[in-house]
Amino acid sequence: MTVYSHTRLALYEKCPLAYKFRYIDKIKPEVGFIGIEMFMGSRVHETLEYVYKQRKKSPLEKITLSEILNYYTFIWKNKWSDDVKVIKEGMTAADYLDQGKLILSEYFHTYQPFDQDETLSVEERIDISIEGFKLMGFIDRVSVNKETGRLEIHDYKTSGNLPEVSDLLKDRQLALYQIGVQRKYNFDGKDCDIVYHFLKYKKEIRFQKTEEELEDLKKKIVGLIQTVELASWENNFPASVGNFCRWCEFSAQCPSFPSLKS
Ligand code: SF4
Repeated sequence: MTVYSHTRLALYEKCPLAYKFRYIDKIKPEVGFIGIEMFMGSRVHETLEYVYKQRKKSPLEKITLSEILNYYTFIWKNKWSDDVKVIKEGMTAADYLDQGKLILSEYFHTYQPFDQDETLSVEERIDISIEGFKLMGFIDRVSVNKETGRLEIHDYKTSGNLPEVSDLLKDRQLALYQIGVQRKYNFDGKDCDIVYHFLKYKKEIRFQKTEEELEDLKKKIVGLIQTVELASWENNFPASVGNFCRWCEFSAQCPSFPSLKS
């Protein structure tokens, strides 16, 4: 049985043909380079994972800022490769290394000693079952707030964009994860907060989804999966040409792509 994910469904919505290339034909796109913003974001995520794992393992031990920054610098050096490229003019790799340090320092000063909540899991795979369809995803962190007793789903963002709250409310990814997390931790029907951390902006945005919103989401997801399954059955994956094509990993295989270049 196919296991879906938010990313997989989102690709189908953007372009069914790109979906086919990736998930049906399983074409492995050639990775030209790794953008340094993504590289830095991954190292910041891994460092926060380290922080909360340490905290869970030894709750009485203090984690210092220098320990956190040393860990970040160590994995930066350890995972660095020549495939990592700086694209933005006037910026250097050292600038991005420092950006990550600044993000982590500010996070440290806001949340240390990291005891506002009890961490249940970090970077955990979550499985979601909706009307017999299977979905999965990975969550940065799941916790229970010590003050409110509410379940919290945390997502860390290192990007330079701060979206409107109205756009975040429309985003289905974490709401989808909420369905799986509530079931897994026996919080079905209980309060749950979705918490976005826009690290560069030192901004935490939190909100709740109502039962009605989650039910509506489930219906939409089931409808979308049924559409994808019908497309697979009929082998019907039309190209959907748009702005997205400029960043498409499958432009070399796509018969519609050359028309874009003219
Ligand atoms: S280049 Fe555009 S139309 Fe072609 S597969 Fe990619 S997204 Fe779809």
